[in-house]
Parts: sequence; structure tokens; C-alpha cells
Amino acid sequence: TSVKRVHNFNAGPSAMPLSVLEKAQAELLSFNGCGMSVMEMSHRSKEFEGIIKTAEADLRELMGIPANYKVMFLQGGASLHFAMEAMNFRPAGASADYIVTGAWSKAAIKEAAKLGTTNVVFNGEAEKFNRLPAAGELNFDPKAAYVHICHNETIHGVEFKSEPVLPAGVPLFCDMSSDFVSQPIDVTKYAMIYAGAQKNAGPAGVVIAIVRDDMLERVPANLPTMLDYKVMAEKESLYNTPPCWSIYMCGLVFQWLKELGGLEAMYKIDQQKAKMIYDVIDKSGGYYRGHAVPESRSIMNIPFRLASEELEDLFVKESKKADLIGLKGHRSVGGLRASLYNAVPLESVKALADFMVEFQKKNG
Ligand code: PLP
Repeated sequence: TSVKRVHNFNAGPSAMPLSVLEKAQAELLSFNGCGMSVMEMSHRSKEFEGIIKTAEADLRELMGIPANYKVMFLQGGASLHFAMEAMNFRPAGASADYIVTGAWSKAAIKEAAKLGTTNVVFNGEAEKFNRLPAAGELNFDPKAAYVHICHNETIHGVEFKSEPVLPAGVPLFCDMSSDFVSQPIDVTKYAMIYAGAQKNAGPAGVVIAIVRDDMLERVPANLPTMLDYKVMAEKESLYNTPPCWSIYMCGLVFQWLKELGGLEAMYKIDQQKAKMIYDVIDKSGGYYRGHAVPESRSIMNIPFRLASEELEDLFVKESKKADLIGLKGHRSVGGLRASLYNAVPLESVKALADFMVEFQKKNG
């Protein structure tokens, strides 16, 4: 393309694969020759049925989702599902365990606590959420309705490398918003996975929820319909008008991932990209300070600091001039952050790594 494209390190919404955008552009006025855009067609049409079914089938194939899990395309952002998982899957009087590793698991427990009993199994806040818990630190409630984790903390940059080992029979729920489809995951270790699409999967406006069938038996009667996973599962995401365009775009991203070789192939690239930036940090002699301890580092979001806020402001300003966009840290923690989602090309990461080395030379 001759259109200007920047190096996009936004935390979400974030970069999309160029070929996906081009495909959407080519199909914008007439999807598959049907004379309409996807955003103009009925969600009950044959065309859209094909789009949503293919997106689901491709995701099932990519992630290896077994037949006894439902895949749903829902709304409300991941934030609504913080409340919904508790409303649907924590029976009255029961408690749910939360591993609090950063701002997003903290947001999740806050919602669940409004509606019932929660138990904090680990809280990394005193250490500024710079690490994951060690196995020995986790004292689970063997009667917990579920354990909630955030697989990758987008703001604090810590990411689970394996699932915590839970007491027998306790289901694991996971907010996977910011590292969804970045790596192979053993879905059978989870009773529920959900993810806001707007980082790795597609545009904002759709949340993908993967729920094991037996969980749906827990859903209490008389929940508002839009908050009821059982209805959404029975109606195959089409109880009401779904976010059609966002689902279509997710489908294109899943096709792109399949063409790339699937999640193993994606993971290799993502690891390589993350290593390029962590290497610069580690070789900078303390000039760049990564937030997370090395064992807990995320391959998707890399928050880091410089010696002063003035220097960080200069970094943001200078990087923008070089078309490196979205490097300012989250407003709650400050500093800098590079988000290296699936769609961020290797060349962009190389450009950032080179910029960081040069910036240190000039301002060290
Ligand atoms: N969970 C994680 C890990 C996130 O990164 C975000 C948003 O950045 C959310 C939840 C909230 O998602 P949403 O804005 O879709 O409600």
C-alpha cells in the first residue's frame, strides 16, 4: 500500500494486520459479491450465518477448543464479563477466589465483590504488581465457586506462563483479553476464557467467551437476558443483534492466523519480538528499567521507565516524530509501554529497538 502506516504500539484498540485491513477494504462495498457491506446485512442472513460460523470454526481449530465448550461472540467489553462471570457462575452464598496480579484482575474482583463473596488468594499490589505468585503462595479455598486469573496484565506487563494448580474440582476462569490467540493454550485447563477482541482478535465491540458446558448448568434463573450466558449459548450469540462488523473482522484475523501457521507459529514470532525489546532494556545498564521481574514478563505489553518523567516525556515526543506511536504508559502508572500484539510487524519492533538504543546514546 502507498498509504502511510505508522509503527503502532497502542495497548488497545491496537494494530491490525495490514492484509486483513486490505481484505476488509476490498469487501467493504460488496461482501462476496452480494451487493452489501457486512455492516449493512441482516444478522439473520445466510451470508452472516456463514461469517459467524466460519469465525467460530476457525477459532476452534486455532485454539483446539473441544466440543464440550461453547464459543460466544458477546458485548459489553471484558469489563461486563467481570460482573457476569460472578452473576452466572458463583451460586448464592458461595465465594470465588481471585489471584490479583495487576489492574485488570483488581478490576475483576471489584465487580465480583459488589455482587457477593470474594477471596483474595494473592495480591501483588504492595510490590506494584511486578510479578506473578509462586505456587507456594497460593492458598486456595477448596470450596471456591471458581478461581479467576488475568492471563496477561496489560498495564503491569506480567503474564502467566502456566496455569496455577487448583484444588480438585475448582474451575479456572481467565480474562485473556490482552494475550488471546498469541500462543497455544490448553483450553481444557479452563472452565471459562473470555477476551475483549480489541487487542489481538479484532476491533472493539465484541468479547469472545469460551465456556465449558457444565458451567452453564449453574446459571441462575431470572438473570436479565443480556447477562445470561445460558441464553446467549443457546441462541448461538444471536439472541439480539450482535456486533456483526466486529465479528466479521475477527473472522478475518483468525484466517490470517491460520495462514500464518497457527498459534505455534504466532507464538514464535511474538517471543522473538518481545526478546528484541527486553534485550535492549537488559543491555542498557539500568537506563531502561522494565517493570516486571524477568520470570513474569509479558510478551505482549512491556512497561518500562526512564530515570525521570522529563526524559520519559522526551522519549514519547521523539518517538512520535519517528512514527513510533502509542508508547506512553497507562495513565494510572505513567512511564512508557510498548504493546507488541500479533499484528505489530517485526520491522516495527526493530524500528523501536533501534530507536531505544539511539535515544540512550543521545540522552544517556
Ligand atoms: N482485561 C484486560 C486484560 C484488559 O487489557 C482490558 C482493557 O484494556 C480489559 C479487561 C477491559 O476491557 P474492555 O475495555 O473491553 O471492557
